Amino acid sequence: MSHIKVVNIFSKELIGHEVEVKGWVRTRRGNKYVQFVALNDGSTIKNIQIVFDMEKFTDDDLRLVTTGAAIRVVGTLVESMGKGQTVEVQAAELEIYGTADDTYPMQKKGHTLEFLREKAHLRPRTNTFGAVLRIRSALAFAIHRFFNERGFFYLHTPLITASDCEGAGAMFQVTTLDLENLPRNEEGKVDYTQDFFGKMTALTVSGQLEGELGATALGAIYTFGPTFRAERSNTPRHLAEFWMIEPEVAFNTIAENMDLAEEFIKYCIVHALEHCADDIAFLNDHFDNELIERLKFVVDNDFVRLPYTEGVKILEASGKKFEFPVYWGADLQSEHERYLVEEHFRRPVILTDYPKEIKAFYMKMNDDGKTVRAMDVLFPKIGEIIGGSEREENYDKLLARIEELHIPMKDMWWYLDTRRFGTVPHSGFGLGFERLVLFVTGMTNIRDVIPFPRTPNNAEF
Ligand code: ATP
Ligand code: MN
Repeated sequence: MSHIKVVNIFSKELIGHEVEVKGWVRTRRGNKYVQFVALNDGSTIKNIQIVFDMEKFTDDDLRLVTTGAAIRVVGTLVESMGKGQTVEVQAAELEIYGTADDTYPMQKKGHTLEFLREKAHLRPRTNTFGAVLRIRSALAFAIHRFFNERGFFYLHTPLITASDCEGAGAMFQVTTLDLENLPRNEEGKVDYTQDFFGKMTALTVSGQLEGELGATALGAIYTFGPTFRAERSNTPRHLAEFWMIEPEVAFNTIAENMDLAEEFIKYCIVHALEHCADDIAFLNDHFDNELIERLKFVVDNDFVRLPYTEGVKILEASGKKFEFPVYWGADLQSEHERYLVEEHFRRPVILTDYPKEIKAFYMKMNDDGKTVRAMDVLFPKIGEIIGGSEREENYDKLLARIEELHIPMKDMWWYLDTRRFGTVPHSGFGLGFERLVLFVTGMTNIRDVIPFPRTPNNAEF
């Protein structure tokens, strides 16, 4: 007999057989004749009930079987008479691995999410975070599966980069220089030639530029890795360290890019609905009664595709009082994006053709000379979940843009080479993994969908 995971125990075939289970005690209750332990091993939101017949066990045997303790039980799996479970284990043998006294912080149910954030080292043992982390894992698997099934290659782009021109956000510098005693050059500036890489380096804000090198060689690639942005924005949707998925496809136009984005997100949601039904049902019941309905709605309906200019007209005509003003040229805020999605269209929206001034230098210019082939996918409750574009593949136009924006060319020579040698139309996008997990779990703060969040003034655990 070998140890069985709780997720696999609820099976008729096992009834009457001896089983061995291992896990952490959630609760213990009972009387002098019988004691019930709810045991959870993390493999599922469900607990297995262990029944201790107090003719076979003494109070002393069970004294240390308290909330949070880790135990092993061998016993017979039987059909349960009680409510709330189908089977239970009649204990024959008990081993205690590790005890937990009453200072164990996850004692009671109903801790606030804020309290649990301070205990991020133990919160995975709660129902809520167990559910979120299992869903997160399933979504990561779905992402690899989606791209693998479509012949995309998983490209590993560097985390340390010397190009500070991606323009996506503030960067965290990486250095081995002695900060107490910085080497200076003749101009009195820090001498980075003495730094580890011989130049100034930082953590990546996006793998896209390297992703384009991959796509223009392998055809279709995706990245899936950590991304870092030293943004001081303390919002429920921003982390300083988050995971991003960035597909990039040679020969894809903006329309094909939109098709890919829509199919991709729907695929991930369907996967979660199919493989994480218990966890999603738990979150639906405890946090967000419309969660399952919302997920199904997104899967079953086409996303709206709308040019930015039309979106701005709708916002202007809405008569709604926004905190930030809307006008053609404004970078839309979350409140604007959510108005379009939640109030006007009531479904996801892909906004396209943004003014070039508010988008990155590498996006392909439209014939109007004013807008670029950008696309942001906007979601209910989240706002922007994906940002992408068709890329400017014309060498002269790209160079003109780089010069216009005073992007240091010395950093860009390798990127420009893709446009010098066998350039092709190509497109891609970035999906913030935690924003997808937010959507699928119905959680409202991004700090609650990553095990150990990194935000301004917070790098504990
Ligand atoms: P936002 O306007 O919401 O800050 P962005 O325009 O800076 O996003 P992009 O640079 O296009 O975002 O990045 C691609 C995707 O990465 C976004 O659509 C979003 O899902 C995600 N993302 C961006 N910044 C963060 C962050 N700080 N924390 C978590 N996810 C992020
Ligand atoms: Mn941002």
